[in-house]
Amino acid sequence: MRGFMQESTRSLKASFMIVVVLLLVPVILLPGETLSGERKLPDNIILFIGDGMGIPHITAARTILGSLKMERMKVVGLQSTIPLGCYVTDSAASGTAIATGEKTYNGAISVDCDGNPLKTVLEYAEMEGWSTGLVVTCAITHATPAVFVSHVSSRSMCCDIALQMAESGVDLIFGGGLAWFLPSSDPASKRTDGCDPLSILLARMNVVMSPEELLQLPDSGSAAAFISLKHPECLPGREISLSEMTKKAIKILSSDGKRFFLMVEGSQIDWEAHDHDFHGMMLEMKDFDDAVGVALDFSMADGETLVIVTSDHETGGFAVHDGSVADSSVTEWGWTTGHHTASMVPLLADGPSAEKFSGIYENTRIGKLLIGLVRSDHGEHE
Ligand SMILES: [Zn+2]
Repeated sequence: MRGFMQESTRSLKASFMIVVVLLLVPVILLPGETLSGERKLPDNIILFIGDGMGIPHITAARTILGSLKMERMKVVGLQSTIPLGCYVTDSAASGTAIATGEKTYNGAISVDCDGNPLKTVLEYAEMEGWSTGLVVTCAITHATPAVFVSHVSSRSMCCDIALQMAESGVDLIFGGGLAWFLPSSDPASKRTDGCDPLSILLARMNVVMSPEELLQLPDSGSAAAFISLKHPECLPGREISLSEMTKKAIKILSSDGKRFFLMVEGSQIDWEAHDHDFHGMMLEMKDFDDAVGVALDFSMADGETLVIVTSDHETGGFAVHDGSVADSSVTEWGWTTGHHTASMVPLLADGPSAEKFSGIYENTRIGKLLIGLVRSDHGEHE
């Protein structure tokens, strides 16, 4: 009888402890953590934009390469790219939608139809204390990188874009376009005013001016690396791969333990598609996909990084007509336009919160979701 009483007391104590622990669990959970301990919100976000990359571009690259790194990603969505005022977008309007969650007109760099600035996911990330970066294979003043840190009424305002970029809080910029940062006193400058964005950058970060120096940058701190004066060359002439640039950027941004937001653009898939250069386009697709592989390797080791791969629009009205999986070849293809099309483009996501990006939606949903993920109140701006 006494033994039974001791047993009961012990089991009562045990039950009490379980109740106490269960009551405490919600208190000690970190934001976004579930009862099972699974984190739902990412610490870092790496956003890849393959400029002009539609499903047929991916199809052709997958046939030729056998498989793609981006196939490792588990969540698939489709996004509509149509801007305000017309049916077919440019990279400025679609980039603004992805960066800010708002539709605008073609040519607009993160401003609305009245010219009011639209706050970008990168700016929200900075506000929340995240490190931020942009890595591209075009001039860094071009539309896609510009929409994340600049606010101007026209994408052609490269001098203003460069100045705003230098004055912004962005921690890392890798790409071409040094000419728009050099003061007009320099013969290589493209500037028409008295501003000196390069000096502004030099005052707040390491600045280098060649692909070799980019690879030798310290693995911490802030950095700008210009790999060319204007646009970098297309492949195979470009001296540095997007995966090398992405690897260095991740190393720098992840060095201090702070959260980071990084946008990486495969800028010249679009240009090769405009030119109907199939082989050049495949080189750019491989370069882009290899960089995605670098981010996925980091995300897999880190476990806290959301990786997104998408496009801003389809270019060329491209279609694959014939080929062979056995021979890894595409033998017939066609183009319906030298411009962009209104075709929906794919989105792939992997890592914490990836599931939010499944389905069919407007491109603005990407911006709204991204902003929701970086804001400390975790509002999704729905
Ligand atoms: Zn284009």
